[in-house]
Amino acid sequence: MSNKYSAKKRFGQNFLQDHSVIERIINAFVPKENDTIYEIGPGQAALSNHLVEYCNHVQLVEIDDDLVPALKAQFATKPNVTILHQDALELELTEPNCRIIGNLPYNVSTPLLIRFLYQSENISDMLFMLQKEVVKRICAEVGTKAYGRLSVMLQYAFDCEELFIVKPESFHPQPKVDSQIVRLVKKQEIPIVDLQKMESLVKQAFGQRRKTIKNNLKGILTDDDFEKLAIDPKLRPESITIEEYVNITNLISD
Ligand code: SAM
Repeated sequence: MSNKYSAKKRFGQNFLQDHSVIERIINAFVPKENDTIYEIGPGQAALSNHLVEYCNHVQLVEIDDDLVPALKAQFATKPNVTILHQDALELELTEPNCRIIGNLPYNVSTPLLIRFLYQSENISDMLFMLQKEVVKRICAEVGTKAYGRLSVMLQYAFDCEELFIVKPESFHPQPKVDSQIVRLVKKQEIPIVDLQKMESLVKQAFGQRRKTIKNNLKGILTDDDFEKLAIDPKLRPESITIEEYVNITNLISD
């Protein structure tokens, strides 16, 4: 079906065609027999075909009504595969230690990542293909231009590692931008914080990147609070570490 099917822009469909890239992704993920694996957006099964050979529990989460029948037919004889015909944004992970993989639809990649952050209790690790620029933001270090909401929120719970770049020619249709693989492994120790409060605080902190943290958090933190937290109020939001964002959230939650 691959080239006859007309890809849907609204579902971010760019199908992987390059076998060497598919192999590199699978090798980087290292699927194991007893893993509980969720693949987000299997599409035409470029990655799924390999996952089902290695693993006893593979769930394929696909939203597109036109792709699901072909997936069901293809994997009808594979008892280790479950096809979940649904929006991944509504996925509930109920088992522990889930492993998630996906060449993510770029139009919903940020909300998907945030959704998984909220379910990190049941996640062991994730490997995603994303727009290169998004991977840079996820993995950015404090003090750099790319460091922002996505870096703080995801690095709070996961060790994030950027892997190889994938060029547009590896897909059909070709996306306009480079893609990159990113690995997120849940941290052993995650500091306790009200995640919703931290998410809204970080959003406000990065509201105006050129202003100081004091300015962006006006009405939330007093001069005394900055002193208690040992944070220089004149710093810009990209100079505040994740630990400091956790401390700020915990202070305002008290
Ligand atoms: N995994 C395939 C590959 O690598 O060739 C397809 C990747 S394509 C970039 C993204 C896939 O995600 C498509 O199959 C698309 O239909 C599916 N998709 C888009 N939005 C989705 C959503 N909200 N929930 C589940 N699947 C979604």
